[in-house]
Amino acid sequence: MSINWYPGHMKKTESLLKEQLQLVDLVLELLDARIPYSSSNPKLANLLQHKKRIVVLNKVDLADEHMNKLWQVYFQQQGLEVIQVNATRSGINRLVQESVDKVFKEKAAQLKARGRNSRPARVMVVGIPNVGKSTLINQLAGKGSAKTGDKPGVTRGKQWIRVHDRIELLDTPGILWPKFEDAATGIRLAQTGAIRDEIVDQQELAWNLLQTLQTHYPLLLESRYGGDVTQPLIDYIDSIGQARGCLLKAGEIDYQRIARILLEEFRSGKLGRITLEKPLDEVTA
Ligand code: GDP
Repeated sequence: MSINWYPGHMKKTESLLKEQLQLVDLVLELLDARIPYSSSNPKLANLLQHKKRIVVLNKVDLADEHMNKLWQVYFQQQGLEVIQVNATRSGINRLVQESVDKVFKEKAAQLKARGRNSRPARVMVVGIPNVGKSTLINQLAGKGSAKTGDKPGVTRGKQWIRVHDRIELLDTPGILWPKFEDAATGIRLAQTGAIRDEIVDQQELAWNLLQTLQTHYPLLLESRYGGDVTQPLIDYIDSIGQARGCLLKAGEIDYQRIARILLEEFRSGKLGRITLEKPLDEVTA
């Protein structure tokens, strides 16, 4: 999906999200485990008001395992329920179910106290573009789930998916707009592919990434590209170019191609499991 996030569009997205939120008991807020800070939307907490959320650290298969744990603790310390998932893998339904049960317990008890019948928790998935919303919905909607049809008050065409017997999931995700706070956040979003690269210069993205990796993941760089990782950035770029044969006709180094390779190999996980932000000081470079 490509969206130009001009202010009018953000407003529309926000009002659509507000409508959707009225229909659910709680939300699954997807964050990219490689950039939990940059992939969050600070306005969500406000929009939720008293509604509960579960933080879903997604793409944990691409992120650094140790950092996944640190981020999990960070969110738990804020009193939030957190789960780590790889939405492309089956077998996460039970994890989501247990978490939803835990968070919905209080509301279910309130309903019961008011003499209402217990009902499944109504849940929706929210997150910025490309964070894995559709993948998660499809995963949860896999075998054993069924569409439950339109409900009163739901825009026609919106469906609820019954996940086991205790969750009803809205089949349309809530889209959050990415942060536009500062250049560093924009760079992280583009490096992970959350916003389109055309907006940001590929070489700028790649060299920034390389610099971060030189500092935080030198061993991964060394095992992928060899060379002396401690060289100044510009020399190390050249050494990758030589190693990968990224040369132009005149024997000059093809920097654009090196940049493409770096970004692709980072995004696909070929470079290894990498997290670009850590809790508290958030952006690592
Ligand atoms: P949406 O825009 O939020 O709905 O994102 P999508 O569900 O379309 O996912 C964007 C891309 O991320 C797709 O290529 C997915 O296959 C990929 N993806 C989603 N979740 C994961 C995950 O947990 N791990 C990995 N490696 N890729 C994922």
